[in-house]
Amino acid sequence: MSEQAGMSGRAERQPTEETDIPVYDPATGERIAQVRSGGEAEIDEAVGAARGSFNSAVWRGLPASVRARTLWRAADLIEDKAEALIALESRNNGMPRTLAEFTIRNGAETFRYHAGWVTKIHGQTSGIVTEGAIGGGRAEYHAYTRREPIGVAGLITPWNVPIAMACAKLAPALAAGCSAVIKPAEETPLTTMELGTILVEAGIPEGVVNVVTGRGERAGAALAAHPNVDKIGFTGSTEVGKQIVKAAAGNLKKVTLELGGKSPVIVFDDADLAAAVPGAAIGIFANSGQACIAGSRLFVHRKVFEPVVEGLAAIAKSLRLGSGLDSGTDLGPLISPRQTERVIGFIEEGRSAGVEVVTGGRRLDRPGNFVEPTVLTGVTTDMRLYREEIFGPVLAVIPFDEEEEALAAANDSSYGLAAAVWTRDIGRAHRLAAELQAGTVWLNCQLANDLGMPFGGYKQSGWGRENGWDGIEAYLQTKSVFAQI
Ligand code: NAP
Ligand code: MG
Repeated sequence: MSEQAGMSGRAERQPTEETDIPVYDPATGERIAQVRSGGEAEIDEAVGAARGSFNSAVWRGLPASVRARTLWRAADLIEDKAEALIALESRNNGMPRTLAEFTIRNGAETFRYHAGWVTKIHGQTSGIVTEGAIGGGRAEYHAYTRREPIGVAGLITPWNVPIAMACAKLAPALAAGCSAVIKPAEETPLTTMELGTILVEAGIPEGVVNVVTGRGERAGAALAAHPNVDKIGFTGSTEVGKQIVKAAAGNLKKVTLELGGKSPVIVFDDADLAAAVPGAAIGIFANSGQACIAGSRLFVHRKVFEPVVEGLAAIAKSLRLGSGLDSGTDLGPLISPRQTERVIGFIEEGRSAGVEVVTGGRRLDRPGNFVEPTVLTGVTTDMRLYREEIFGPVLAVIPFDEEEEALAAANDSSYGLAAAVWTRDIGRAHRLAAELQAGTVWLNCQLANDLGMPFGGYKQSGWGRENGWDGIEAYLQTKSVFAQI
């Protein structure tokens, strides 16, 4: 790995806004680090290193068993260093330690899961006999397909689960045999930089993984547009996803997009409310709502509307806000003052349009970016609160009377990432699972995921899938070979 823009701290250089990015603890607002702001030159150098390593086949040319062992070793190293990574992730992102621990263990498992695929990537053979060969007459071929790595992968990740996202992109790219350049979010570069070091220690050859820190509009845009990059794997907002598609058009890069969501949760009157209410609460409040799969629109059958709203409000009030590093914390801060203003802006807009704030709705009067877990009623379909991704701990609860009405409302969104249904009627559950326009459907559960299950979005929530064989395929291309017999 070559780290093109590392942590600075050198006495001889005066950092400026142009050359450096400050990194903050979102729970206190304290500046905890500073990273270089990479741009076109750094991206070009990193892409050059990745291309060189791809052409020389230092990684893709290794025996599959060696590559599998290397990825497995990376998983072990992530676990060996878990304590330090948990503390760093929690400090930089603000997430509770328990969540940081979960995402880091999951990151290690991501490398193990993909290590398993490395020895199972192969094509198919076909014996072909044709009577109409070009040039006339009968021809016989031994034909086969090869599954080859796409080439240099540009990987761009968001701030909400930083190292988990880096693992979700690097593990399949490396398993497929690609070389990579990764640009983490400007707010949360620290654990991805550590991951780069871990991958070198695990034995990934020089130049195969390159970490470039920088801002999206400079480093990210340069990576998406680079003519020597073959593939972009992106997780982030739908808006930036569309910019990536345009930038990638120059050399027709292959593009995978994991984008935003406005995921519906439907609670029927026959649901087990003792499970559904805490399920819906964790579905929106986990990671302070900064999750693409957050269940932010909750449709509740009118017969149980009141007890569900009361139950949610009670849970919201009981959650303890604080630094992720404090063991008693349930909800950490939002990532930045800007994100906090955005979230409060949505709530205030709703308030002035007549929305009822059942609980929460305010920014805490203390250092750090804390917004109370918020439950709203009276949200109507014309409001931004109903349509747009808030990416904060804000839940809109909406009553319904009929199943068809709930289904139509759930699907009335430009997004389609996830959906949840709570009911004891098994026929209805599977009927809705088939009709909901979402890449993931949860029946009587929420937030379930697994490395073996494809993850991605319908509609404007994305292109392609991560995890499972689909996730590996996103970094492969197929060649057909004909050998005349
Ligand atoms: P974002 O603004 O879209 O940024 C995502 C990444 O793209 C960051 O690394 C960002 O860099 C970079 N970027 C920004 N502008 C760019 C450009 N013009 N060209 C190339 N790269 C650019 O999203 P975010 O604010 O970090 O994260 C929140 C969003 O991500 C939410 O909408 C959420 O739903 C979505 N998300 C989706 C998933 C999923 O799996 N579907 C998972 C997590 C989050 P900078 O940080 O330097 O700006
Ligand atoms: Mg940005």
